[in-house]
Amino acid sequence: MTPVGDGGPAVRRLAEWDAERLLAVADEYDTPTYVIDLDRVAANCARLSAAFPAADVSYAVKAHTGRAVLRRVREAGLGAECASAGEVERALAAGFPGDRIRYTAVNPPGRDLDRVVERWRDDPGLTITVGAADTVDRLRDRGFDGRLCVRANPGVGAGHHEKVRTGANAKFGIPIERVADLAASWNGEFDLVGVHAHAGSGISGEDLSAHRELVSRMGDLAREIESEIGPLEFVDVGGGFGVPYREDDPSLDLGSVAAATREALGEVSASLSVEPGRYVVADAGVLLTRVNTVKQARDATVVGVDAGMTTLLRPAMYDAYHAIRNLSADANAEPEAEADARETRPVTVAGPICESADVLAEQRPLPRPERGELLAVGNAGAYGYEMSSTYNSRPRPAEVARSGTTVRLARQRETIPDITELER
Ligand SMILES: *Cc1c(COP(=O)(O)O)cnc(C)c1O
Repeated sequence: MTPVGDGGPAVRRLAEWDAERLLAVADEYDTPTYVIDLDRVAANCARLSAAFPAADVSYAVKAHTGRAVLRRVREAGLGAECASAGEVERALAAGFPGDRIRYTAVNPPGRDLDRVVERWRDDPGLTITVGAADTVDRLRDRGFDGRLCVRANPGVGAGHHEKVRTGANAKFGIPIERVADLAASWNGEFDLVGVHAHAGSGISGEDLSAHRELVSRMGDLAREIESEIGPLEFVDVGGGFGVPYREDDPSLDLGSVAAATREALGEVSASLSVEPGRYVVADAGVLLTRVNTVKQARDATVVGVDAGMTTLLRPAMYDAYHAIRNLSADANAEPEAEADARETRPVTVAGPICESADVLAEQRPLPRPERGELLAVGNAGAYGYEMSSTYNSRPRPAEVARSGTTVRLARQRETIPDITELER
């Protein structure tokens, strides 16, 4: 078992995963298969709790909603930040009590509101975060008068890619300058418990300025509301803690993020709340994929693998970099085994989908992969399985959960009949 304690090392690199064990998983469960290490999830939670001792830490469920992960996160004491009725259902099913669940409605379909309000009747500790005044009207129509949090659009964003910057995107939240007045108008009718903002994904050590700016605006907002209306329970400054996707990226220094957050927030009577997703699960997961074909194209060596953009969307959607390892070559290179002195050369790793965006890595130096060999894609625990699809009628992968010395199937591999099952 990974010792949890204070959460151990700040990052687990792809190179640190045991090649023999991953080869054994692929032999038993076939590929493509995600592997999620629940002990690492627990360690990441422990490190967050240690860095933010007085804060309320929630896990943004959308990064990985697997039940095994949700249970481990709950056992680690974090709350659940949910973006849809489906995520609320899954958090409840994993044993989160209602008072540890926040539902943050983004342009919520009526069906979602119906469902969540129904859950709230049974579990009035549940909090609903609204990002539009008319969501409040729609909640009122459904008889909701419970714990309400207001999502502000702080006008500052941060992120590793334009598509994940939310803080200044009009889609999210109520313009921060209007929040205090609206909150005052809703106070009394609802139990106004907090304010919320999320700048986007990718807070990094070098770029704490956007985070600081967001937190300081939220501190001002909380003070304004507290002086006009009364104390709030929490100020939630979102998630977005970055993880080092490149092998040589420095790991995030949570201590300095926490210190910067405290300082920028200033004096408020509300407690601080954070809600990271990626940070909890990214380095706890790898994706195993096998080489189907190797071909010498005009300008590149193309290594065709059985995982593609339908398995792991991030490279196609965000141009994201994920480390890749040739596990078969590495296993052969163990000192006892015969030396594998294979040349390393740049290769393009491409999936089986008919889209030119279906490339996991371009011109990546790897020990020359051969057909049938196993590759591992690192930092695949966050937004990996969750963003998978069945495009090209390609079944979604299996997922295996590891805990201590136990390895078990967590999500069964989808089949072609599964894909067509809903057809009428
Ligand atoms: C996605 C999301 C998060 C988590 O973002 P990460 O980058 O995974 O930490 C937190 N809060 C809200 C409202 C989100 O939409």
